[in-house]
Amino acid sequence: MRNLCWIRRDLRLHDHFALSQALKSGPTLVTFIFDEEILSKLKNKSDKRITFIYDSLIEIENELQKKGSSLLVRYGSPMEEIPKICEEFKITKIFFNRDYEPYAKKRDEAVTKKLKTLGIEAENFKDGVFFEKQEILTGSGSLYKVFTPYKNKWLEKFDSLEKFIPDYSCNLKNLYPYTNKKNILATNWYDIIGFKETSAPLHGGTKSALKLLEKFGTHIQKYKAERDFPAIQGTSNLSVHIRFGTISLRDMLRQGFSEKNEGSSTWISELVWRDFYQMILDTHPYIEKESFKREYDQIKWLGKDDHFKAWCEGQTGFPIVDAAMRCLNETGMMHNRLRMIVASFLCKILLVEWRKGERYFAEKLLDFDLAANNGGWQWSSSSGCDAQPYFRIFNPYTQSEKFDENGEFIKKWVPELAAASKKEIHRPSGLLFSQYPQPIVSYEANRVKCLEMYSIIKKA
Ligand SMILES: Cc1cc2nc3c(=O)[nH]c(=O)nc-3n(C[C@H](O)[C@H](O)[C@H](O)COP(=O)(O)OP(=O)(O)OC[C@H]3O[C@@H](n4cnc5c(N)ncnc54)[C@H](O)[C@@H]3O)c2cc1C
Repeated sequence: MRNLCWIRRDLRLHDHFALSQALKSGPTLVTFIFDEEILSKLKNKSDKRITFIYDSLIEIENELQKKGSSLLVRYGSPMEEIPKICEEFKITKIFFNRDYEPYAKKRDEAVTKKLKTLGIEAENFKDGVFFEKQEILTGSGSLYKVFTPYKNKWLEKFDSLEKFIPDYSCNLKNLYPYTNKKNILATNWYDIIGFKETSAPLHGGTKSALKLLEKFGTHIQKYKAERDFPAIQGTSNLSVHIRFGTISLRDMLRQGFSEKNEGSSTWISELVWRDFYQMILDTHPYIEKESFKREYDQIKWLGKDDHFKAWCEGQTGFPIVDAAMRCLNETGMMHNRLRMIVASFLCKILLVEWRKGERYFAEKLLDFDLAANNGGWQWSSSSGCDAQPYFRIFNPYTQSEKFDENGEFIKKWVPELAAASKKEIHRPSGLLFSQYPQPIVSYEANRVKCLEMYSIIKKA
């Protein structure tokens, strides 16, 4: 008996459901496939996410070597590579954690089917979310489409389980003993997959994830008060780690439930939002291409290509928007409050279809996650399941005054405004700021146009 644990967006060796079960049942080899289908879609061959993954795999390899094993790395189609590995190593069973994205679901089904024809069993596990689709249902047994009642039910169910958070510990003594000449330390996999190593603002791997979690734990009680201010380090910064699974959701929930205050309960709410969006994508896979509320696909977007370009480049003449976009372009990160401001600005002030912004975020965000990104964009554009009403339009000037009062964040990313006073920074005008673009549209006029553009919804 020999098992294979296939890791994908769960790049860690602790609290890992599939790995813990594989190790319990027999000697286990761990594998990671650089999926050519996913990589071929990344236009930037110096994508920082590849470096984050690579660093995480190096940490895993070091841990495995200490236990006399090694990570089996391959590049290609998992449909081909997984069966090949199974044959080569005489694997009898494979274990992996579930992924709820449409492509991943199709891929996993195809791999499982192919393995079956070879007489190899495949088992999958719930690991990336706390509750899955059939676990949180309304009284009449249907799925929730609104967040607050979903969250209440989530918490109720959690209470009914006596707040038990399992820890799927992994007994690495049961790893399959293996020396691997093509391991990630000995081979330049960047060359093989056609990418370049780059500098990522966050180091991959579990050690740095746990350090961030520990640091966040020292100020989690202030989360509710500080989470909306981009110039303050008020949030956990764990999204990239949870996206690639260098930390487990249960690690985060344990931290959240370890204390009882306004900050920790607000943070737990955000983790429940994450489960909610995963459930929505899992159960409504059409949202990858269409609006959750399908009538919103009838909107005729009036926006111009050059305005979209200015938005991407942080050259709109709206300081808070430009600072946020320049920060994204440089670091691959953007604060949640800023994501809401720039998303609302793109579709409701520049009148550009939200999908263009969604795609741009998907290319740039280190923490890009289809479920959360799609959820965030559909929320902002009002087309989503529990979205902002279409007539709610963020005012970029007042948002800026409220959440970056002294212009600290703006000044960091828009040096043309370094000399602006607290009063001028949010809506600069005059010769002193001639280096900075004039607003490309009028907020007040386009707000009216937006309401007209969206009025088709009422007629639909
Ligand atoms: C337009 C838009 C696009 C977004 N795209 C993504 C994305 O691609 N990937 C992503 O992880 N988040 C996305 N978000 C949600 C949110 O902005 C980020 O999760 C958050 O900024 C990450 O920072 P943090 O780790 O410090 O979060 P914290 O505030 O510390 O929150 C902890 C964790 O909760 C989860 N979380 C927080 N807010 C949300 C949310 N609204 N929806 C779902 N999960 C949430 C994340 O996993 C986050 O790491 C998007 C939001 C919007 C409005």
